[in-house]
Amino acid sequence: MASAFSSRRCLVSIMTAAEKAGEASGGQSSSVDRVWRWLEEVPDPEIPVVSVVDLGIVRDVSMEDGKYVVTVTPTYSGCPATAVISLDIENALHARGLEDVRIETRLSPAWTTAWITDNAREKLKNYGIAPPVEGACVGAMKAAGPVACPRCGSLNTVETSRFGSTPCKAHWRCNDCLEPFDYFKSF
Ligand SMILES: [Zn+2]
Repeated sequence: MASAFSSRRCLVSIMTAAEKAGEASGGQSSSVDRVWRWLEEVPDPEIPVVSVVDLGIVRDVSMEDGKYVVTVTPTYSGCPATAVISLDIENALHARGLEDVRIETRLSPAWTTAWITDNAREKLKNYGIAPPVEGACVGAMKAAGPVACPRCGSLNTVETSRFGSTPCKAHWRCNDCLEPFDYFKSF
């Protein structure tokens, strides 16, 4: 019983993976998948090492009346990057020959740093930005626990300024390697 169930689940997940990889032939879903892949190449304007898909900003891609609709949720309403992100997405899809593109903004549920993919967290760390520590109260904008230094991994770190180069980031310093670094605030 249990094994039959799990093998069925397995089959379903293989099919989904194949579709995501673009193996599925033709049809609307594969063209939507293609748009997702193109969006994976659109960098975040503030942190170009991660894409707007990595950050969880792109919530949905669909086709309505022959028009692609990309639904985005801004990372943080105060982030000046939001308008830039919509424009970057439009430009990227226009460059691929998609003329009919509509960007829709969805504010609810609000974006949370929990939507950032593990892959993106690794990229942030390699870029010298400490990825958000999850678990803080929503809206607290404060680290829920120790923030690891992205350079040496030490937890002996201290916040030096709540507002860093952008409202989404805070300045921290490592007491071991003495390097200052940006912390991507969890919210
Ligand atoms: Zn360090």
